[in-house]
Amino acid sequence: MQESLDPKDWEEFEKTAMEMVRDIVRFHQTMREKPVWQRPTAQALSDIRIPESGHSDLPSIYQEFKQSILPYAKGNHHPAYWAWVEGTGSPTAMMAEMLGAAMNSNCNNGDHIAMYVDQEVARWLRDSLRLPEEGVITFTSGGSLSNLTALTVARNSLDVADFRKEGVSSLRSKLIVYASIETHSCVRKSVEMLGLGSENIRYVKVNDSYQLDTIALTEQIRQDRSAGHTPFCVVANAGTVKTGAIDPLDDISEICERENLWFHVDAAFGIFARLIPEYQDSLKALNQADSIAFDLHKWMYVPYELGCVYVKKPTLLTKSFSIEADYLSVHDRGLAAGPDPLSNSGIEMSRGFRSLKVWFSIKENGVDGFRQMIGKNIRQAHYLGQRISETPNLELLAPVSMNIVCFRYNPSNGTFSNDELNELNKELLMRLHERGKVAPTYTTLNGVYAIRAAIVNHRTQIEDLDLLVKETIEIGNDILNETKQEG
Ligand SMILES: *Cc1c(COP(=O)(O)O)cnc(C)c1O
Repeated sequence: MQESLDPKDWEEFEKTAMEMVRDIVRFHQTMREKPVWQRPTAQALSDIRIPESGHSDLPSIYQEFKQSILPYAKGNHHPAYWAWVEGTGSPTAMMAEMLGAAMNSNCNNGDHIAMYVDQEVARWLRDSLRLPEEGVITFTSGGSLSNLTALTVARNSLDVADFRKEGVSSLRSKLIVYASIETHSCVRKSVEMLGLGSENIRYVKVNDSYQLDTIALTEQIRQDRSAGHTPFCVVANAGTVKTGAIDPLDDISEICERENLWFHVDAAFGIFARLIPEYQDSLKALNQADSIAFDLHKWMYVPYELGCVYVKKPTLLTKSFSIEADYLSVHDRGLAAGPDPLSNSGIEMSRGFRSLKVWFSIKENGVDGFRQMIGKNIRQAHYLGQRISETPNLELLAPVSMNIVCFRYNPSNGTFSNDELNELNKELLMRLHERGKVAPTYTTLNGVYAIRAAIVNHRTQIEDLDLLVKETIEIGNDILNETKQEG
């Protein structure tokens, strides 16, 4: 009978533990030499099966990990990864995660150091991003939870019903949310979960730069009011997921002010462009936002997961979430003293020591370090956009406004229909992945299939982007030749 889950032989354990640390440091150091992605092999998929009974020793489990799990990572740690919007993480933040796991603090409540590190990191973020001091930041598992948290606060701030008590059952008119058609799908999910119904989101059209059309927004609000509905919130984008477009935040903020609507901004990654002088104007109106959702696991390069929600009026946050529970009341002294439980400011209760990886990263790099990396990624996106514009057979599909580039292979002799080009580019993307040298992903823009690179990668160098152009052309030409032979 085992006494606990601790190692029977601590010296043996330490040997394996040291090997793990050495290997994982090496993994980071040498990743450029390895494929950005490879499909898990049938062998790996069979190796990971957990047997019915029996147990193994740590060294052999670790060997299995090295053989069948580690090589088949998603790839977002790699310099040539620009898929979806997925951050790289950093070696320091990785080690911080391990140290945080060692402490294993539940950061909901209590008088212990992690609670204060959390508060300090939240304050640092608010001040470095120059958000108004009256507001607070709390941590979530990511942008989706942050948007849900913010929209819950927005809904509950309305005086048309006591939502916490009555839900939406006593509503006499429909509550309407406005967002551009480019808005992330998690916003719709939030509205559905809030019981407001997805048909009560008005998807407003965008201009040629994929920014919300404020004239259409104003007109839609007018129509809804005259139909007896209750407009209550605009969700603006500071960096859309598809093209990185920044909605006209100044104008939207004014409309919200005039119409008395909640001004929420989904700034999942875009908020960090605030560190760059060129974006001060277009992101200035974030100061007016009632709430902002953003992620640290994207453009702050910390490992998954970590999101933030900023709420300008902290009392509204606690009004939405605080709940009396005798087993959670804060005492005057002892372990049960300390800050108000974080479950009073959000959906989740138990939570890891999420802020430690940020604390390490900030101490290591300062705000200047992040400014440099983010500025670099923006310049790289503009460079890639420029290269695509200049390269025959490549077509830039959206203006590069931040760190996202959408393009396609489009042979200039122009014999392909749009459907054929969509097919061709989808095939091209799959082959890019299978070659394992570069990993962009995709989106569709007005029915056009686009290859899309979202650069939130501190490791990317210009040569990686040159390789993306080279590979795209090569594979595109291959497919073109194959279709010629078939045709
Ligand atoms: C990534 C993203 C989200 C969702 O955030 P998660 O952290 O993945 O939950 C929402 N909006 C935008 C613009 C995003 O890029």
